[in-house]
Parts: sequence; structure tokens; C-alpha cells
Amino acid sequence: MTNSSFSPIHIIGGGLAGSEAAWQVAQAGVPVILHEMRGVRGTDAHKTDGLAELVCSNSFRSDDATSNAVGVIHAEMRLANSLIMACADKHQVPAGGALAVDRDGFSDAVTAAIQQHPLITVVREEITGLPPEDWDLAIIATGPLTSPALAEAIRERTGKDALAFFDAIAPIVHTDSINMDICWYQSRYDKVGPGGTGKDYINCPLDEAQYNAFVDALIAGDAVGFKEWEGTPYFDGCLPIEVMAERGRETLRHGPMKPMGLTNAHNPTVKPYAVVQLRQDNALGTLYNMVGFQTKLRYGAQAEIFRMIPGLENAEFARLGGLHRNTYIHSPTLLDQSLQLKARPGLRFAGQITGCEGYVESASIGLLAGRFAAAQRKGETPSIPPATTALGSLLNHITGGHIVSDEEPGKRSFQPMNINFGLFPELEPGSIVKPEGVKRFRGKDKTVMKRQLIAARALDECKVWLGRA
Ligand SMILES: Cc1cc2nc3c(=O)[nH]c(=O)nc-3n(C[C@H](O)[C@H](O)[C@H](O)COP(=O)(O)OP(=O)(O)OC[C@H]3O[C@@H](n4cnc5c(N)ncnc54)[C@H](O)[C@@H]3O)c2cc1C
Repeated sequence: MTNSSFSPIHIIGGGLAGSEAAWQVAQAGVPVILHEMRGVRGTDAHKTDGLAELVCSNSFRSDDATSNAVGVIHAEMRLANSLIMACADKHQVPAGGALAVDRDGFSDAVTAAIQQHPLITVVREEITGLPPEDWDLAIIATGPLTSPALAEAIRERTGKDALAFFDAIAPIVHTDSINMDICWYQSRYDKVGPGGTGKDYINCPLDEAQYNAFVDALIAGDAVGFKEWEGTPYFDGCLPIEVMAERGRETLRHGPMKPMGLTNAHNPTVKPYAVVQLRQDNALGTLYNMVGFQTKLRYGAQAEIFRMIPGLENAEFARLGGLHRNTYIHSPTLLDQSLQLKARPGLRFAGQITGCEGYVESASIGLLAGRFAAAQRKGETPSIPPATTALGSLLNHITGGHIVSDEEPGKRSFQPMNINFGLFPELEPGSIVKPEGVKRFRGKDKTVMKRQLIAARALDECKVWLGRA
């Protein structure tokens, strides 16, 4: 390692997040020791010893920075000199509007850049406990398959409810795509609860025929199986919705779709046969999740079946449901805005373990953790990206934007999240105006314009944040 007046920052995990974090720290002139266990101990999903190995798909998803939230985060990461994006661009393979990569070429390029960096030392070892106290600045980026010994140490430090080993994701819907001519706001029995209003849920009513058709579709739906090493994580009554449907025609009507305590504001005299409830998911109120609708159905089947629910016929999904082996902490309560564990300043988390999801999102949170830690080492105040940027909106969601529900004050309501436009703050009122000369300006056109304006605002503000305006 080249001499530097700074003592090193330790990074545990050389995946997408840890590699990006190491690069950002080293490019800021601060030495890094990167501890990666592959080479000594493998995981159930990785197949090589290469850094930043892509364990499944080779796609970084849409590269459209004008109207796609993933494309915007790509662009912001490029502006911030991301190693992951530079290597992805270099090893791109044809994939239409998506950025897909040659997975070996990509991982080899990241590995070479990290290993050749004069300020980075890679140590192949498993870290089995929390960083020792003399690692005053450290980043844990050990991902969804964090080794059991380290996971246990994290759990001991954060509390047993604060570390999850599976996610159970219910679909999340963009609020402005819900048909409020059919749905209505009401909490069951109008309960106000701590911090509620009595109108905290969006309710979708089903009559008997609609309910039966929905149950039939769930049972016939195509589901994804668990991988052998995942086990079958049916825990805490957290059954996939289609498994509940299979257990009996009435099960859902007595479970997550029960109609009790709810009166259809559009048709008060007719009692709904069943009701699907959606609960606010982010502080901005732009996203609502479908309560109790965790599922293993394939994505295509989910969109089709859930749009059968009255009021959701045009639902736009910010993310679809899932149930996976995963390891992640309850970041909204544990981490501060610069990704530090509140209980141990100087120790940061990055990547999927913070509750973001996906290659790009994990790398982006690694990028931020690396920049924050390097600033701290240099005696500077970490510069937090504005919430209007993709980086800032994802960070904000992880560290504070998510709502903890009053019905589940326990920490389970926080589920992993991809970047999507629902995480960005709304535009100033009056921003969406019909362009001159355009005859028809429909809801769909407004959505496209809204996304374009949010994307343009994000990139402008990211440039200002990075001093590149
Ligand atoms: C089976 C599976 C399939 C997936 N498919 C996709 C997909 O198709 N598209 C997508 O966008 N995302 C996918 N994901 C999510 C994806 O893995 C993550 O989003 C991304 O890899 C997370 O990046 P990360 O850096 O947080 O973790 P990782 O990339 O997993 O990196 C963590 C690193 O930490 C190391 N490590 C773990 N414990 C220790 C320890 N105690 N000491 C030292 N090193 C340690 C691991 O070996 C690993 O190299 C998938 C995840 C899984 C599990």
C-alpha cells in the first residue's frame, strides 16, 4: 500500500457495494483494507472468487436517464466516478435499452482495478465478528448472504428484531395510479391509533364474484420455487398470498382480505364481500403497499392478477412482491443519514444489507458510504446528496423515509426496496403543463412528463451536489 497520512478504512465484503465503497475511499486519497471471504469461504450463490460478482442476471436494468429511475441512478453514479458503472460500461453487451454486461469481463475489471489501486489492500478472510474497536472507521457490506457468524454478531449488537434473514415483500403501488373513484380511505373500525387519522388505509372492495375469480387466479398463478439452500421460510404467519388461497376459499376473506370494520364510502349500503387494504409506505405518501400480500408468484402473473382488484386496474407497481433469503438490518431506526450505526459512530453499513435491493442500488449505497467515510477520515463533514437526486432519495428511504406502521411497531414492516420514482419528492405544484400544440394530454402523458421532470431535476441537483454544475 502506498504511504498516506491517513489510517485505513476497513471494508468488509468485496461485492457490488464493498468494491464501489473501496474505490470511492481510495480515490479520495484514503487507504482501504478490503476484507473479502471468497477465496477462503464461499456463499450459496456466488460461483467465483472475483470481486463484484453478479450472482444471477447480468443486467443493470434500464439505462434511460431521461425517464427511468434506474437510468437516473446510473447517470448519477457515472457523475460520481463510479467504478462499478465504469466497468459495466466497458463490458456492456447488447441489450436494447438496458445496460447488460459480460459478467466475467465486468467482475475481472472491477477486481483488477481494486487490486491495482495503490491505496487498496485486499485481504481474503472471513470476518466473524463486528469490527474491532481499533478499526475506528469501517463499512460492513456483506450483502444478502452475510456469513452466519458475522450476521449473529450484528444481531447481538442491533437486537433480534432489527436483523431479518428473509424478506417478505408485498407489492408496492404508486399512489397516483390507484382509482379513488372505486377505493376509499379508511382505517379498520376508524381506529386512529398513535399517529393515525382513522383514514390511513386505501381500501379496494370486492364482491363475491370478484373475490372468487381472484382466488381462482391466485391458485392458478405461476409461482417461483425456493432454492434448495433457502429452505422454506414460512414464518410468523407470513404465508405467500397464493399459499393462503390454496388452503381454502375462505382463508383470505378471514385473513388479509377481511371486510370487517370497513364501509365503502362510494356505496355505504352494500357491504363488500372482501377488501384489499393498502398502507402508506413512505413518508412522502407517493407509495402504498398491499397489506399481507407477500407472494412467490412470478412478476408477470402478479401484475396481471393484482390488476383484477377493483381500483387497481391501472395500478403501476413500484415493486412487485417476493419472498427471498436475505440478510438486512432495520436501517430506518439503526442508521443515521450518513449510514453510520447510531450505536457505534464510525461503523457504517452499505449495500443490500441496508435494505436496498439490486446490483445498482447496492453499489450506489456503497458509493455513498465510501464517500461519507472518506470525508470523515479527512475531518470533513460528509456531504449528503439532496433528496431530489436518485442517490439522495434512495438514501433517504433507507435511513428515514420509510414509514413504520402502528400495527406493526415491531420492525418487520421495512422491506428491501429498488430505486423508483415513488421515492423522489413531488414536483412543485403546476410543474406539469400541457405542451403547446399538443391536442390530447392524457394521464399517461402526464406520468411520462412527471418522470422526465423528476429525472432532469435529479441530474441537475446531482451535478450541483458534486460541484460539477
Ligand atoms: C440468489 C440471488 C439472486 C439475485 N439476483 C439478482 C439479480 O438478478 N439482479 C439484481 O439486481 N440483484 C440480484 N440479487 C441481489 C444482489 O445480490 C444484490 O443486490 C447485490 O449483489 C448486493 O450487493 P452487496 O454488495 O450488498 O452484496 P454482495 O454482492 O453479495 O457482496 C457481499 C460480499 O461480502 C462477502 N462476505 C459475506 N460475509 C462476509 C464476511 N463475514 N467476511 C468477509 N466477506 C464476507 C461475500 O462473499 C460477498 O462477496 C440477487 C441476490 C441473490 C441472493
